[in-house]
Amino acid sequence: MCGVIGIYSKSAVNKKLFYGLNSLQHRGQESCGITVSNGDRLQREKGMGLVIDVFNEENLGNLEGNIGIGHVRYSTAGGSHDYNTQPLMAFAKGIEMSLAHNGNLINHQILRTRLEEDGVMFQTSIDSEVILYLIARYYKGDIVEAIKKTMKLIRGAYAVVLVLKDKLIAFRDPLGIRPLVMGENEEDVVFASENAAIEIVGASNIRNVKPGEILVVDKDGVHSDMYSNCDKPCNCFFEYVYFAREDATLDGTNAYNFRRRSGEILSQEAPCDVDLVIPVPDSGIPSAIGFSQKSGIPYAQGLVKNRYMGRTFIKPTQKEREMAVKLKLNPLRHVLKGKRVVLIDDSIVRGTTSANLIKRIREAGATEVHMRITSPPVKYPCYYGIDTPSRRHLIAANMKVEEIREKIGADSLVFLSMEGMINASHGKVDTFCKACFDGNYPVDPIVI
Ligand code: SF4
Repeated sequence: MCGVIGIYSKSAVNKKLFYGLNSLQHRGQESCGITVSNGDRLQREKGMGLVIDVFNEENLGNLEGNIGIGHVRYSTAGGSHDYNTQPLMAFAKGIEMSLAHNGNLINHQILRTRLEEDGVMFQTSIDSEVILYLIARYYKGDIVEAIKKTMKLIRGAYAVVLVLKDKLIAFRDPLGIRPLVMGENEEDVVFASENAAIEIVGASNIRNVKPGEILVVDKDGVHSDMYSNCDKPCNCFFEYVYFAREDATLDGTNAYNFRRRSGEILSQEAPCDVDLVIPVPDSGIPSAIGFSQKSGIPYAQGLVKNRYMGRTFIKPTQKEREMAVKLKLNPLRHVLKGKRVVLIDDSIVRGTTSANLIKRIREAGATEVHMRITSPPVKYPCYYGIDTPSRRHLIAANMKVEEIREKIGADSLVFLSMEGMINASHGKVDTFCKACFDGNYPVDPIVI
């Protein structure tokens, strides 16, 4: 749950990185940072908070140069501390390098322990530093070789951008679990977690960085090298269900289309005799539109969203999450009073958000509140960088659907089937990671 961007340009990249990071803000709001190379040295600015709060004319002005990377962070490995903000920097063998990482290494602890036993002292508590340290250790003048040696050791999910004084590098894990796209125009080559960050800087010709691909951009152009060839990628399904922006097209699947279609399919899998279809904004909106259009039941906005709040799912503590739900979504009494409604949401993780919303929608006068979820029950934790809680806290891991319905106080509750979710993606069943739904982890999370 982070966003990365890297730009190699013929002109200054500081503002481009700033705007690009803004368009990735939904991927992490705890901290952010930018590193820029002026061709001789790397300069970095970073801090806790939103991109708009951390950066200003003055500190962006310190970032002079035509090559740079940026990062927005939500902590999954390591705590929410200033020392864990990215990009990270390393000084080794006479060179400077800076790295930004989205994803999670399942074997970072074991690698870290081994390195610490060798006398290495880490500056952060995050897995990304292990990647940077290994690259620095293996670097002997050939950065691609150093990355390949590093990829041989690290396991899990990673989409990484790396800047040296004269190069921008991007690489992606061999299964392509976390997204990474590339775009170009006459002036810029851009890598980013989502295409919105590429489009905002005016680049186009967007393609996916392939699973296992290492791309280097320097004065001679773009060079592609493969660590491994992947005939069966495992793109994270949750990106389309919830995490990516609606305008994201990642590995051939557009998030808006997926969500709208999942609503259409759900309306057929689980019809509902009600007066209104109400979305839980924002990710529930396209699905509610699809549900409404297919069923013929009118769509209405029954919840008003406070646009200045972060995402409730990604607040670190339970108390904060509950407070955030109240602050973030307010029922529209005039729409809901006396109505039977079906509420459309993307997922149920702990169940507290749904219970809270249903209670408040009833208090606003709705006579029936049915719930339809546009993904199957989340029964297993994610080890690859999405902040789902342990099984103990996942409501669907511990309760049957009827028990969940009772717990959240809905009149009826239906989840989209796995088959329906695959159909909504127009994708092939074996090109997605869906381990949080079915427990089939593409990279074994048990590391010995
Ligand atoms: S386990 Fe779920 S959230 Fe994690 S990468 Fe796989 S599909 Fe995405």
